[in-house]
Amino acid sequence: MPIIVQKYGGSSVADVTKIRQVAEKVVASKRQGNQLVVVVSAMGKTTDGLVRLAEEAAGAGKEAPRRELDMLLTTGERVSMSLLSIAITSLGEEAISFTGSQSGILTNDRHFDARIIEVRPYRIEDELARGRIVIVAGYQGMSYKREITTLGRGGSDTTAVAMAAALNAERCEIYSDVDGIYSGDPRVVDGARHLPEIGLGMLQEMSEAGAKVLNAQAVGWARSAKIAIHARRTSDDWARHGADEARQTVASEGCDTKGMRAVAGFDRVVSLTLPSQARDAFSIYAATAGLGVIDYASYAESVRVTLPLLNVPNWNEVREYLRSIGAQIREGLALVSVVGDGLNGGEAIRNFDDAIRAVGVKRLQTTAGPLRIGALVAGEDLTLTQRALHDAFVK
Ligand code: ADP
Ligand code: ASP
Ligand code: MG
Repeated sequence: MPIIVQKYGGSSVADVTKIRQVAEKVVASKRQGNQLVVVVSAMGKTTDGLVRLAEEAAGAGKEAPRRELDMLLTTGERVSMSLLSIAITSLGEEAISFTGSQSGILTNDRHFDARIIEVRPYRIEDELARGRIVIVAGYQGMSYKREITTLGRGGSDTTAVAMAAALNAERCEIYSDVDGIYSGDPRVVDGARHLPEIGLGMLQEMSEAGAKVLNAQAVGWARSAKIAIHARRTSDDWARHGADEARQTVASEGCDTKGMRAVAGFDRVVSLTLPSQARDAFSIYAATAGLGVIDYASYAESVRVTLPLLNVPNWNEVREYLRSIGAQIREGLALVSVVGDGLNGGEAIRNFDDAIRAVGVKRLQTTAGPLRIGALVAGEDLTLTQRALHDAFVK
């Protein structure tokens, strides 16, 4: 029987009614003759709520230790995994839920934004062999020091793809509130185009540029393990009707990305300018503090860095250190990018800058590579700029 890994995100398990609906879908897939591993996120916006609780507990001007944040945040996924297991059992199928560490997800020791090093899914394989449906808490693992870690915001996607790779699954199905991947965030860009297929390379560029439809680490795993990702909407009845009735995006290494383009945006970004003598201190600090830098440019006199704050829960502390090594910091920025084919060359960069200027938005900088052109703009200009770039490059 083929193994299928399904992942249901926060909005798909936001309340018990939705969890029961997911249970019905899972059971229907199982009864079609599949072995099922189901990865779940925390219910709705639980993780955000837990982060706020930690901030309150730390008090004004203080920040929670990253280790304790991980202890706290992993509880969110534990709630949904057990509720889903209970709901599936009540439908007459055997199910069992596991935390990340019980599932054999081993990570490095970087709290709040850990990387999966290895997956040893022995217990999961045993339970599948017994005919059970296995539910896995997303977004978490255990470090080689036996500490509980989380995988960075949006990290349940990574759990799902890494698990699919370790189990040699036929595919990884990612269920959310959108019916696949579009040429821009459909909540932001009117007329964003649905993409029935996409290459994993392009998808990785999009997610690294901030498109949160899939986590960038997850796409990296899919690429190295040659796993196909099927991005679907939870409310479409896939188990019953399949591809005749619903749309999806199949993301695979083999897909030809010729002529395809998309826009992506990252909010809560900062720009750093460091004196060149601080270069080494910064690199060492960035590696130990786990700062996920996007753009890095080194000049004779200075170093320029673009840093998203999504996975930096202790920004006050980081900012204090960066100032101590002479960094000038611009906060409240956003990174807006066009990703895809045919972006190398001066004409694309000129069109990019013109499109932003035409809507009256000021850029702090533009960076260009063969697969992505990005600009730093003020946070409040993020939506307007994404729409303008979609009109200019995709429509
Ligand atoms: P989940 O909680 O299920 O993981 P997310 O909220 O993390 O779901 O991701 C789904 C959201 O990603 C969508 O609601 C959509 O607003 C956003 N999104 C951003 N960029 C894209 C894109 N290019 N295509 C589709 N959705 C996108
Ligand atoms: N619950 C976690 C988050 O909100 C992980 C996830 O949803 O993928 O970031
Ligand atoms: Mg997500």
